[in-house]
Amino acid sequence: MNKCPFHEDSSGVEQKGELAAIQCPHCGDYRISSVALAQLKRCVTPPSGWPSAVARKRVISTRDTQALLTS
Ligand SMILES: [Zn+2]
Repeated sequence: MNKCPFHEDSSGVEQKGELAAIQCPHCGDYRISSVALAQLKRCVTPPSGWPSAVARKRVISTRDTQALLTS
């Protein structure tokens, strides 16, 4: 099931190419790779760089999440 990893009241659909399109009332709409999504599910709270990563409006990749999780 695809959802924003931080917000239960979000929704998402799986897209081609291991991508998920998430619609979150808190973070906004974004697309993220399914592996990156799985990595973020280990977090209880969003990493500090999360809002700006979403605001860049491109697909969030595992490279992005690794940078977020180690910052
Ligand atoms: Zn969210």
